Amino acid sequence: MRPVNKISPHIQQLQQQNGPVKTSTVTNALIDTIGNYCSYCEMMLSGYHVEHLRYTATWPENVNVSMWDDLLLICNDCRNNIRVPELNTLSADALLWPDRDMSFNLYNSPLQYELRPVKYVVVNTDGDRILEQEMELVFVVANPAAAATLYQKAFNTINHFQLNMQLEYYDAATNELRIPETVHLQHADNRMFKRTKAWHEAMRAVEGLRGMDSLPDKSENHSALRQMLVDQIAMTAWYSGNWSVWMTVLHQQTNDAALTQSVLLSTAHPFPGTRNENNRLFIAE
Ligand SMILES: [Zn+2]
Repeated sequence: MRPVNKISPHIQQLQQQNGPVKTSTVTNALIDTIGNYCSYCEMMLSGYHVEHLRYTATWPENVNVSMWDDLLLICNDCRNNIRVPELNTLSADALLWPDRDMSFNLYNSPLQYELRPVKYVVVNTDGDRILEQEMELVFVVANPAAAATLYQKAFNTINHFQLNMQLEYYDAATNELRIPETVHLQHADNRMFKRTKAWHEAMRAVEGLRGMDSLPDKSENHSALRQMLVDQIAMTAWYSGNWSVWMTVLHQQTNDAALTQSVLLSTAHPFPGTRNENNRLFIAE
C-alpha cells in the first residue's frame, strides 16, 4: 500500500471558501494530491470513483472539504468487498492507513506482495466445479517480521477490504480459490488480476533493462537510450497503478534501490503524494 501525503497545494484555498464546496471539487483535489489510484488496492481508478470517509458507517452522498483529513480514494471493488461496513474510531484505528502509517518499506514492509501458484475454481449455484485452472496470482500478505502493531494492522486491513478476494473463497488446505460463477462472469473483483498484470508488466520492464544493459555499447547514446527506457518504464508504471507491486518486483529483480527510485519516484511520471520522508521507503528499518 503506497504511503501518501495529503498535503494539497490548493486545499487551503478551498477551506477558505465561503459556503459548500462541490463533492466533485473535493474529489478532484484528492486525485491531484494522491493520484488517481485506489488508496487500498492501488488499482487505477476508472471514470467512476468514490471517496472513503474513515469513520462513518454510511457512505456519504456528498463530501465537504471539512472532511479532508478523513478522506481517501476507494475503487468499487474495494468498496463492494468491505467486510465490516460499520467503521468506528476503534475499528478504524486497528487498520493500516496509507496517510498515517508507514504502509510500505522495501526491506520490511507490513504489507508484502507475492506471486503464488493457486488453483482457480469456478463453482455454480449447484456447487458444481465448472472451471478449474492452475494459475499464478499476486497475493498481498501481512509480514510477520514487521513490528507487531504494524503486522496486526496489515492483517486487519487485508481482511477488512478482502484484498485477496472474499475470505471464504480461499481454502488454504487445498490452495484453491473457489469463485462463484456470477462473480467470475461479472468480473466483480478485478484486484488480484490487475495486481498480477502489473507484476508481469514490471517483470517485462526489468527484462528490457537487462537486455539494454547486456549490450556491449557503452557510448553516450547508449546511456541516453537507457534513460529513455527508464522514463518509459516510469510511464508504464504510472498507467498500470499498483505501485507496491512495481516496487516489489523492481527491487527483488534488480536489488538496485537507485533504479527503483528513478522509476517510481520519477519526476517525469510521479505517483502524486507518495510519502517518502527522508527516503524511509528505501531504508532498512
Ligand atoms: Zn481498491
